[in-house]
Amino acid sequence: MSYVKGLKCRICGTPYQVDPLAICEECFGPLEVDYDYDAIKVKLTKEEIASRPGTMWRYKELLPLDGEPTVGLHSGGTPLVKADRLARAIGVRELYIKNDAVSHPTLSFKDRVVAVALSKAREFGFDAVGCASTGNLANSVAANASAAGIPAYILIPDNLERSKVLGTRIFGANVVPVRGNYDDVNRLCSEIAGRYRIAFVNVNLRPFYGEGSKTFGYEIAEQLGWQLPDAVVVPMAGGSLITKIHKAFKDLEKIGFVEPAEPRFFGAQATGCNPIAAAVKAGTRDITPVKPDTIAKSLAIGNPADGYFATGVITETGGWSEDVSDPEIVEAIHVLAETEGIFTETAGGVTLAVTRKLISQGRLNTNSRVVLAITGNGLKTQDALSLVDLQPIEPHLSAFEKLIAGEAKKLAA
Ligand SMILES: *Cc1c(COP(=O)(O)O)cnc(C)c1O
Ligand SMILES: [Zn+2]
Repeated sequence: MSYVKGLKCRICGTPYQVDPLAICEECFGPLEVDYDYDAIKVKLTKEEIASRPGTMWRYKELLPLDGEPTVGLHSGGTPLVKADRLARAIGVRELYIKNDAVSHPTLSFKDRVVAVALSKAREFGFDAVGCASTGNLANSVAANASAAGIPAYILIPDNLERSKVLGTRIFGANVVPVRGNYDDVNRLCSEIAGRYRIAFVNVNLRPFYGEGSKTFGYEIAEQLGWQLPDAVVVPMAGGSLITKIHKAFKDLEKIGFVEPAEPRFFGAQATGCNPIAAAVKAGTRDITPVKPDTIAKSLAIGNPADGYFATGVITETGGWSEDVSDPEIVEAIHVLAETEGIFTETAGGVTLAVTRKLISQGRLNTNSRVVLAITGNGLKTQDALSLVDLQPIEPHLSAFEKLIAGEAKKLAA
C-alpha cells in the first residue's frame, strides 16, 4: 500500500532508499520522505477518507509505512474548536483552535509523530526505541513503547517539569536525566544511535517522525470542509511541526483535495528561547543557537534542527515570527482557559500570547480565518502557574451566601 518513492535530501535533492537514516551523506542536509503524489491522486478520494475511523491513520496513503500501522492506532482526530469567545476577546473575525491538548494517549501532538516513528521502527526490525525529549515526546514514546511491548531509552534534560518526568516514568521506560539542556541530550542521542541499534524517533528516524505531524494539518483542512485557513499560528521548538503543517497543505493541493491557497505561517516562541523568531526578525535563515531560559520547556531547543526550513516557510508565505515573555505566556494560558474552557500547557500560552502580539503589531490580518495550534495539556505544566490558595468555608448555607453576596440577587430562585 506504500506510495513512498524513497528519501530525499531537503537541501541537495540526493535520493536515498528507505532506511533508518536522517542526514544526507553528500551535504549533511536533513532527509525527507518523498511520495508518488500522482498515484495517490488517482487512487485516494475524499469519500474514502470520510468512510474511515476518525484517527490520523485515515490519511495513511500520505504516511511512510509499508504495511498497516502497529503503534498508536488511536491517535489523531482531535477537535477543531470554533473559538468565538476568544475571537471576540482578541478581535479576530473567524478563529479556530486545533486542540491536541486532548490527544490520545499522552495529551500532546507528539502522539502523532510517535505513532508513525514507532510503527516504522517495527517495520525496520528494531528491538529498542528511544528519544531525546523536552518532555512531551518522552511521555509519548514511553506510553506507546509500553503498549507495544518495546523497551525504550528516554533521555531528557535534568530540569524538566515534575509532571512530565512522572508521566514518562509511569510507563516503565528507562528514563535517563542528563545534566545539560536539550541540545546536549540530543547530541548524546546521536552518539548512542551511531553505536547501538536503537530507533531514536527524532534522531535516526527523524524523517519518518516528522511525517506524523502532517496529520495535524490534514485534519485542519478536512475539518474546515477541505479548505485551507488564511493563517496558522504554530509553536516552534525544533521547528518541525510548522514545516510539516505547511507540507500537509501542499500535499492536499497536489492530490487535488483543496484549492491552491497561500495560508500565512506564523511561528511562536518564548523570548527565553527564540532562535527561530530572532532569525526571522533579522531577515536571515541562518540560526544563531541560544541557551534556553523559559518556563516553556517543551519549546526549549536552543539549536533547532529545522530552524532553516521553519524560517523559509514563515517568510515565503508572508508570515512572521514573534516571541513572548514568561508572564505573557502565563497570562495567555488563563485567557484561553477562561474564554474557551481549554487548559493548555506553556507552549499553548506561547501560541496565544504571540497571536495577540502579532495582532497588536498589525502583522496578523484580523479580518481572516485563523487557526491556532494548541499542542499540549496544561495539567503537565502546573509548575508555571501560581494560583493563590482557596480558603475553605464552613458547611453552612450562610457561609456560602456570604461568599456570593454580590451575586445573590441575580442567582435567586
Ligand atoms: C515538541 C512540541 C512543539 C514543537 O515541536 P517542533 O520541534 O517545533 O516540531 C510544540 N508544542 C509542544 C507542546 C511540543 O511538545
Ligand atoms: Zn544533501
